[in-house]
Amino acid sequence: MKKRILVVLDGIGDLPTPELDNKTPLEYAKTPNLDYLALHGKTGLSQPLKQKVAPESDVAIMALLGYDPLEYYTGRGPIEAVGAGLKFKDGDLMLRANFGTLIDKKIADRRAGRTLTTEEAKILAEAINEKVKLDYQFEFKATSQHRGVLIIRGDFSDNISNVDPGYKRESYYSTTQKEMGLKKCKPLDGKNKSKLTADIVNDFVKQTYKVLNNHPVNEERKKRYLLPANILLLRDAGITIPDLPPKKDWAAVVGMPLEIGLAKLSNMHIIKVDYPELKTADVYQNLYDCLYAEIETAKKAIKQGFFNTYFIHFKETDVPGHDNKPKDKVKMIEILDKEFFSFIRKYECVLVVTGDHSTPCTLKGHSSDPVPLLIYGQDMEMDNKTRFTEKECKEGSLGKLYAKDLLIQADF
Ligand code: ZN
Ligand code: ZN
Repeated sequence: MKKRILVVLDGIGDLPTPELDNKTPLEYAKTPNLDYLALHGKTGLSQPLKQKVAPESDVAIMALLGYDPLEYYTGRGPIEAVGAGLKFKDGDLMLRANFGTLIDKKIADRRAGRTLTTEEAKILAEAINEKVKLDYQFEFKATSQHRGVLIIRGDFSDNISNVDPGYKRESYYSTTQKEMGLKKCKPLDGKNKSKLTADIVNDFVKQTYKVLNNHPVNEERKKRYLLPANILLLRDAGITIPDLPPKKDWAAVVGMPLEIGLAKLSNMHIIKVDYPELKTADVYQNLYDCLYAEIETAKKAIKQGFFNTYFIHFKETDVPGHDNKPKDKVKMIEILDKEFFSFIRKYECVLVVTGDHSTPCTLKGHSSDPVPLLIYGQDMEMDNKTRFTEKECKEGSLGKLYAKDLLIQADF
């Protein structure tokens, strides 16, 4: 049987951008290899969640792996806690955290300019674990750069709102929003447990600001004209781990805690990407280094071929959308085409290429727009679409599918 490969380009979908002659990054980029795959395969669109919902990566990737978030999702916190290797039991409160920058009670940057090194974050995490005092045991773990995960041990409610203004809690998951005021965590129901949980979260956030604001790491950053990482923005509470039906003979080429968590929870073998450290404040140079590291790890894993099915996640393509840097998105797409898709097109496999959601540069955030999709390598008729772009794929013969149904369609 042919190998199966699912390639997820994070945030790849986009909208026409003035800086690219009103083309999208996928339209603007030169992609002879993706063009080949589109021409010799079938194309369509993937709708991440419901129409008009701009999702976070957690629910979006869960859906792409064939797990309906409506049925399985229990919050991003638990997935990241699993990804970070934390121990927990039911009732423990797990939250995703960002080191952000608070200036004059406003969030100046939700990710401290993306310039925080993992090493700096680890020193700050140590200070938090040592100096913040709660009536409950807790552990804060810095994972990668500005990202982290918090676990507070006890018997809590996850029905609380986000402190992070970037994502609003809608029913059971969060959606993207554009606000910069620091939010107070609020209970989302009238239960005492939810109120108590929200109070503890607010207390924690307040104390972290005191610990972080004048911390030597941040004093040093200010001297270098970098934004201080002086606040922890918490979001996406959960108190139980999702129970995902296991996948057999799958391997995941992943590097971020969220994707590692999802891969672990679905029983995949983890092939971890070793990301090069952020060494200078040149965030994009580091992103390109990370992209090359992912490509090399993925190619090696596929060449070895120990597994039947591969889930390969490229995280970088999401970032230029958030930063409105369409030219960088184009460059990343061209690197992927030249270094990765040139390799994969010569490889005997059934291939699915899509994104978890769109991150349009002009919106600087996730949107609800459907994402281009291509399936290649099945014995099926071609639909003569010549490019992997938003417009071409819209006319493709696969039509518009929900992300959660893709793998069935591709016969994985
Ligand atoms: Zn994403
Ligand atoms: Zn994103």
